[in-house]
Amino acid sequence: RDAGHGTFRFFEAAMDDQVQTRRRLELDLRRALAMREFVLLYQPQLNLASHEITGFEALLRWHSPRHGVVPPSVFIPLAEEFGLIGAIGEWVIRTACREAAGWERPLSVAVNVSAAQFGASNLVPVVLSALGESGLDPRRLELEITESVLLKDDGSVLDVLRMVRRIGVHVSMDDFGTGYSSLSRLHSFPFDKIKIDQTFVRVQPNDTSATAIVRAISALGRSLGIATIAEGVETAEQFDRVAAAGCTDVQGYLISPPVPADRIADVMREHSASPAGT
Ligand code: C2E
Ligand code: MG
Ligand code: MG
Ligand code: MG
Repeated sequence: RDAGHGTFRFFEAAMDDQVQTRRRLELDLRRALAMREFVLLYQPQLNLASHEITGFEALLRWHSPRHGVVPPSVFIPLAEEFGLIGAIGEWVIRTACREAAGWERPLSVAVNVSAAQFGASNLVPVVLSALGESGLDPRRLELEITESVLLKDDGSVLDVLRMVRRIGVHVSMDDFGTGYSSLSRLHSFPFDKIKIDQTFVRVQPNDTSATAIVRAISALGRSLGIATIAEGVETAEQFDRVAAAGCTDVQGYLISPPVPADRIADVMREHSASPAGT
């Protein structure tokens, strides 16, 4: 009985701990913007026809003095829960536009937009003012949304997407193949690019079903007249396979991991120096 009691106390303490940790994370996350603890890393995207880097995806990192480098998979859901995603997302769009406007070549910059940011519904004015203050050509900005964004299908999300599209901004479907009713989503909006999820790309050489899926998505993109980019390409074998399957572009550690803004010029130079680079 003593042991049982001890165990209960242990769980109670652990739960207290968890509540404490979450509370701490929330407080720290609330101050992170003001404390300038966020940074954007950029990962290049390589076009297979030209063998050139055509753009970079901005990926958010939180450098917390207390928690270390926190990955977005951890703090984005918390930011959504705490109602902070609007402000953080706005910072991401403004920062990505400003930094991309300073690049030595006019490549595209892709920004991830989560479902909750559409709920905040000030996305269009934010995009407009970020473009205005940075001077970035709207055609260089790309918004990446996942299928979950389109799940609450009351038309308001599509209205926002159509408006940003009219400004000239591109819209990509991220993590394609992992959500719900992918095909009807593609039918409901004219996406500019399909990002094939890593689960079909980062696989063993003998995974023939994954390869068949990549081939089918690439064919779909081709018939719709839109780009298909394979995410998470880590090996030369995976590179060759998605290229043979008909993807138009690739992204992944093989080309480059996400890099800090001050390394972008190097990455551009490395890849224009050796066109067949991989
Ligand atoms: P995502 O948009 O699908 O981004 C791709 C993720 O895969 C990134 O993880 C990237 O670092 C990682 N990755 C790229 N190439 C490889 C590879 O070859 N191998 C492996 N193992 N991983 C690779 P990250 O940066 O941790 O981001 C995770 C997710 O967090 C993103 O998935 C995106 O959904 C979300 N996210 C990132 N930044 C933002 C942001 O600014 N706003 C919002 N709302 N979400 C963001
Ligand atoms: Mg993305
Ligand atoms: Mg993705
Ligand atoms: Mg993802």
